[in-house]
Amino acid sequence: MDFKIKEQSFIARIAAWKLKERNMAIVLGKTIFLHGVSADDFKNNSTWLKHEQEHIRQFKQYGFLPFIYKYLLESLKNGYHNNKFEVAAREAEQK
Ligand SMILES: [Zn+2]
Repeated sequence: MDFKIKEQSFIARIAAWKLKERNMAIVLGKTIFLHGVSADDFKNNSTWLKHEQEHIRQFKQYGFLPFIYKYLLESLKNGYHNNKFEVAAREAEQK
């Protein structure tokens, strides 16, 4: 799968602070933004990598802005954990 990684990302730092996590990965389009984890450690964590790759696939499936819109709507309705895109990403971790 074609993707880019950006380490020490500001947007991932904000998300980590918001979600009270030490390490964070955020996908926008084909780029994975990291905070608190190096690209090497991230790529060696196959479960985590598969999770974020599922989000890249979702961006591809729905298109950039439509996916952001759908994702935010899901989060408002169901929260972070039960957001259907997060449920699918957690299922992808097991594949
Ligand atoms: Zn996720």
